[in-house]
Order: sequence, then C-alpha cells, then structure tokens
Amino acid sequence: MLLILNKNADNKEISIIKGKINKLGLEVNEIKELNYHILGLIGDVSKLDPGIFEAYKAIDKVIFVQEPYKKANRLLHPNNTEIKVNNEIIGGNKINIIAGPCSVENQKQILSIADDVKKYGAKFLRGGAFKPRTSPYSFQGLKLEGLELLKLAKQYTGLPIVTELTSLDFLDEYVDSVDIIQVGARNMQNYEMLKQLGKINKPILLKRGPSSTVEELLMSAEYILLGGNENVILCERGIRTFESYTRNTLDLSAIPVIKKLSHLPVIVDPSHATGRWWMVEPMALASIAAGADGLIIEVHNDPENALCDGNQSIKPDKLKQLMEKLKLIAKAVGRDI
Ligand code: PEP
Ligand code: MN
Repeated sequence: MLLILNKNADNKEISIIKGKINKLGLEVNEIKELNYHILGLIGDVSKLDPGIFEAYKAIDKVIFVQEPYKKANRLLHPNNTEIKVNNEIIGGNKINIIAGPCSVENQKQILSIADDVKKYGAKFLRGGAFKPRTSPYSFQGLKLEGLELLKLAKQYTGLPIVTELTSLDFLDEYVDSVDIIQVGARNMQNYEMLKQLGKINKPILLKRGPSSTVEELLMSAEYILLGGNENVILCERGIRTFESYTRNTLDLSAIPVIKKLSHLPVIVDPSHATGRWWMVEPMALASIAAGADGLIIEVHNDPENALCDGNQSIKPDKLKQLMEKLKLIAKAVGRDI
C-alpha cells in the first residue's frame, strides 16, 4: 500500500498513521509526499476506518495499488510522463518518428539514410551497432565502430541517436554517446541490465518481449523506475502468436491498455511487428490512430542488399509518403507531428 501525505506532515504524525494502518493488517510499503489536497480514496478501503483520515489532516490521499507495478502505475501518476530528449519531447502532444536502418553497415549507408530520414521529418535516428541475432552465423553488427558511425551521423544531421545495448560492458560508452538506449525485446527481462539502467539518467526505450504480457512489460519498466530513472519509453513491437504469415502479430490493443494502466509514453515498431515492408505503412497509421506517441521504423536505402531485416525496411521515399499520411491521422486524433 502506498500512502500519500501532504508535504508538511511531520515524522510523528507519519508514524502514528502507519501504526494505525498496520494494526488493520495492511502494510505501508511506500510513502510519497506530494502537495495534494484531498482527492479521495482509491481501491479497497472497506477495511479502513474513515476516522483515520479525518483524525490526521496530514493525509491527503490513500491509494491502494493492487497491481504489482507501482511507479509505472497511472494511479500514482495521473499525468502522462513527458521525456525530453535534446529538443524533442516524447509522450507529449507531438508524435515522434524514430527512423533508420536495422543495422549500421558502413559510413556511406548510415550518413545517406540519416540525411533522408531527417529530410522527411524523423526526429531521431535509429541504427543497430550491436545486433542480437537469432543465428550466430548472421551479421552481428559493427559494434563499437557502428557506434562511432552513429555519432558521426548525429554530428552531420543533428539527429539524436537510438541504439540497442546488448551488454552492460558497454554501458559507459552508451551513456556518453547515445541519446536513447534501446533495450531489445530479447532483453526485456534481463533484470540485471534493467537494474543498471535504473541508475543512469538516459531515456530508455524498452521493447516488449515477443512472449511477454503487458503486465510483464510494465514490471520490467518498474525495475528501471525503481532505480530512479524515470525516463522510460515503452515499445510494442509485435508478439508471438499462432499466425505465421507476419513475423509477429502487432498487438494494437496494447496501446490503449498501456495508456490506461501507465503514464509512460508508448511507441510502436511496425517493422519488427510485421516483418514485411509493405505492411509498415498501414500498421504505422493504425498505431497512431490507436493513441501511440510515436513510431520506430526501419528505413534502408538498399533493402534488397541490407545486412539485416531488409524485408521489413522501407525505402526513404516510402517514409516520405508515410509522413504525409501520418499528418492526416495525427490531426484526426488531435495530435501534432
Ligand atoms: C531492433 O530494433 O533492431 C530489434 C532487434 O528489435 P526487437 O528487439 O524488437 O526484436
Ligand atoms: Mn531489425
């Protein structure tokens, strides 16, 4: 149970209130101090004597958070979390597009794609340097060289960079040079990694595991939030179902569910969700219509020869067309882009 008290409650008052609540067989796990006025009681208050609250004016609000995620819970944080990254805000009214190749392949490739995605309205550049591949025989990424090339692309275009961290060994390098650290679907439940990411201040893009429930995703976010890093962006990227035509099944319903349960921003990855470039546009449009705060899209200038995920990568001119349609959808749902 979380107890929310007015900021000026003194220690004596707090311990008396805690004692009374404990006596009722309820446990206070956390105390938060806010400048709230009385907002009422949320949750199962049947066990509580309302006199407790009347007797101690220091209590403004008592919330029973029944869900296992506390800090990620919208009950405790009614307003949307807005995450400032360089000059952009993720989770506000504006929809943000993150675009770029699955993997950084060489200097020419990343600079050319970075230039194009910027021209067509993306506000962030994505690109994998360390790649978590299903097959050990597949291209594993340029690793630190890829990170250097991303930094170069940032220098040229000014676009903040988003890239996946696959090992804590490189955390320091990422903290120094990456604007948003991506935790891939495969690492969503790498709790040691999440704990370390809780100790830093960088925004974290946390992708949903292909077989994880929304609650499990929120519990993973909780690890980061609990460590003190409140800058967590959630990402729906498709889940594994019996359908095999698409690479994954995009769980569009996760968007309103997450929005209801949590205050954290949510973006969608229509590329990994579908595995097919021609499905990226309809799923991207549907995601924004369903309330997503942004998209992360794979864009490649030569998808046929891409070293990774060419099938699901759109060409830059497709991004341009998509952006025009996204503007219409954004307007229809009262958002800017
Ligand atoms: C990626 O974004 O390149 C990636 C590997 O995504 P996911 O972790 O969602 O599979
Ligand atoms: Mn990819």
